[in-house]
Amino acid sequence: MKIRILGCYGGQLLGFHLTSFLVNDTILLDAGSPTEILTLEEQSKIQHIFLSHTHLDHIKDIAFLADNRSLKRWSGDADAAPITIHSLQDNLDTLSEHFLNNKVWPDFTKIPTKKDGILKLQSFESECTVQIGDVHITPIGVNHPVPCTGFLLDQAGVQVLFTSDTGHTDRIWEVANAQPNLRAVIIDCSFPNYCEELAEMSGHLTPKGMAKELKKLNKLGEVAIYLYHMKPETLTEMATEVEAENIPHLRMLTQVDEFIIEA
Ligand SMILES: [Zn+2]
Ligand SMILES: [Zn+2]
Repeated sequence: MKIRILGCYGGQLLGFHLTSFLVNDTILLDAGSPTEILTLEEQSKIQHIFLSHTHLDHIKDIAFLADNRSLKRWSGDADAAPITIHSLQDNLDTLSEHFLNNKVWPDFTKIPTKKDGILKLQSFESECTVQIGDVHITPIGVNHPVPCTGFLLDQAGVQVLFTSDTGHTDRIWEVANAQPNLRAVIIDCSFPNYCEELAEMSGHLTPKGMAKELKKLNKLGEVAIYLYHMKPETLTEMATEVEAENIPHLRMLTQVDEFIIEA
């Protein structure tokens, strides 16, 4: 399994991009930044978007991916295939009503033609695995102010867990602990410790909160831990606080990270 980090921050500043991970060149986990990072050719390989929730920092580039792809199709490129967005039905409804609603942005499920839109919406249910090729993706509900799922990815018998945006939560750790070959966990760590109350209110974690969550992971010490969703303006302060937690095999993600996770 190849995971390329396109953006890993919980805020947008010059040079810092919003959450988006590209799996095996074709599957996108959240869409905060793909059109800022990928060439048109790289974008054209994306076939599926797994959407954790509908906060703007995770959906923003659905708009521009769809626009680019649609124009390609209009120009006669037969390879400009539709992109399927997978998420909870609640989230797909929110996308349709509040984002792709012909007011904020055109409804690309009906463009370039009404019958054959460039976006397809496909609902999933929490803890029901979706298979794309030989990648198995299982959404798991987490704790955020809107409906939100993390994702367990499994390919060739090895697993990677992405918590998505979450405050303190339990079920995802039970699922993680049931995996035979969990290799990596990507976990929310958004605010520095002095923002604990803000983190709690907004369904996020601080370094202290993240360390407390990781105590629920049986294989802590054996799996790689990657932090994402840091507020870029507090990165230095957070780095010190994260280090103080002294958690093995842990580091903050960066935008140039690319992992090959093999059996
Ligand atoms: Zn969020
Ligand atoms: Zn977010």
